[in-house]
Amino acid sequence: MCPPVEDTPVNGTNGQANGSNGTNGDHPGFRAIQSSHNPHSNHKSPYQPVGDFLSNVSNFKIIESTLREGEQFSNAYFDLEAKIKIAKALDEFGVDYIELTSPAASEQSRLDCEAICKLGLKAKILTHVRCHLEDAKIAVETGVDGLDVVIGTSSYLREHSHGKDMTYIKNTAIEVIEYVKSKGKEIRFSSEDSFRSDLVDLLSIYSAVDKVGVNRVGIADTVGCASPRQVYDLIRTLRGVVSCDIETHFHNDTGCAVANAYCALEAGATHIDTSVLGIGERNGITPLGGLMARMIVADRDYVLSKYKLHKLKEVEDLVADLVEVNIPFNNYITGFCAFTHKAGIHAKAILNNPSTYEIINPADFGMSRYVHFASRLTGWNAIKSRADQLGLNMTDAQYKECTAKIKALADVRKIGLDDTDSIIRTYHQNLHSEVEKPLLEGLSAEEEQKFQEAEKSLGGVPEKRQLDQTADAEAEVPAAKKTRSAAVA
Ligand SMILES: [Zn+2]
Repeated sequence: MCPPVEDTPVNGTNGQANGSNGTNGDHPGFRAIQSSHNPHSNHKSPYQPVGDFLSNVSNFKIIESTLREGEQFSNAYFDLEAKIKIAKALDEFGVDYIELTSPAASEQSRLDCEAICKLGLKAKILTHVRCHLEDAKIAVETGVDGLDVVIGTSSYLREHSHGKDMTYIKNTAIEVIEYVKSKGKEIRFSSEDSFRSDLVDLLSIYSAVDKVGVNRVGIADTVGCASPRQVYDLIRTLRGVVSCDIETHFHNDTGCAVANAYCALEAGATHIDTSVLGIGERNGITPLGGLMARMIVADRDYVLSKYKLHKLKEVEDLVADLVEVNIPFNNYITGFCAFTHKAGIHAKAILNNPSTYEIINPADFGMSRYVHFASRLTGWNAIKSRADQLGLNMTDAQYKECTAKIKALADVRKIGLDDTDSIIRTYHQNLHSEVEKPLLEGLSAEEEQKFQEAEKSLGGVPEKRQLDQTADAEAEVPAAKKTRSAAVA
């Protein structure tokens, strides 16, 4: 159970993010090149989860709540057209359920709910309502497949929100469940703020609703306070008390939303709530993309068989656009650098076998891998690979020398992809020409001096480079290069 949270005053407002989206591999001041080398080995990791009788990591369902929780995101305003676009995109992606805002919230919410029910989507349509008979009646009339009812059970909410005791909550829950079931609809009963509710209260009400035939009970970390271990303990305990399905809902205030969802499945939960990019109240809930990243590592076959992962970027771009935010640089799967490799050692290994530094195959999501080689961290394998793409052939010793010069220039100033391409081309040209051109145009006198000093130190090399040179002793190094005094005029 989570500790109580003190009330704190709210200061300031959040700024509005701009509307342009990041792209995979590129952003201002950072460019990378695509690597088409894409095979991942099929070797099983020794750290893959071991199946046990509780775990549902290979058998879970997604309740996608962008159109309910996501509507509570500060930037969100979805009109019917936007809601239909999102619902269709989620349905194409393959989510199991789409959850909508309560039709009791407003007249337009009710009309939108009816319109989405009429789309004939494959996903089941749910709506999220308070545990009131009146709200349930309105919801049933909209044509939804099921209702997610919720009531606060923590002492905070009982005292400061609805003011009802546990007996009242239990009786109301049973009345609503029996009504909804009599109308042939699916029903979930959830507490709110479950991790700060009394465990005995929680288990006794869940046991009672399980007995009257609820389809699912829900555990909600409404304030984002739970840790994975607390989640595992609570879900595992609950699994021993109820026989119905268990849905879970995790807020991300302390960065545990994906980990908590995963632990919930390990402990026997069956359904996970997500939203696109994690949007929701405050900083949101388990993101759909983050959950996919976690689950594809746990059971790739299951995830690939159910979800059209190539649609992830499309649905994220759609929602990011509608709520006017950028896709974060470090977003799971679709962040611009999610599959960009920079350090020389990483790039070399990735070019040999991507599994060395990637747990997820970008191709599974229709994404590309990039090798970022325009930096002082680059290595000669990355430069060799780039030279190949440029159609330039050199010996290993030449690639290494060219790489050393690129690294020296990158120490003098920030170099971009175009700069690096031009250095490689000029270096190659100089090998076969009497007249030696500067490797990089436009250096200031100071930069040039720095580069010349750096070049001098290239002779006194670390052990590793000497070893490399021994290995390449037979490689051809044209005389023109050796007589050069400075590469930059
Ligand atoms: Zn929530």
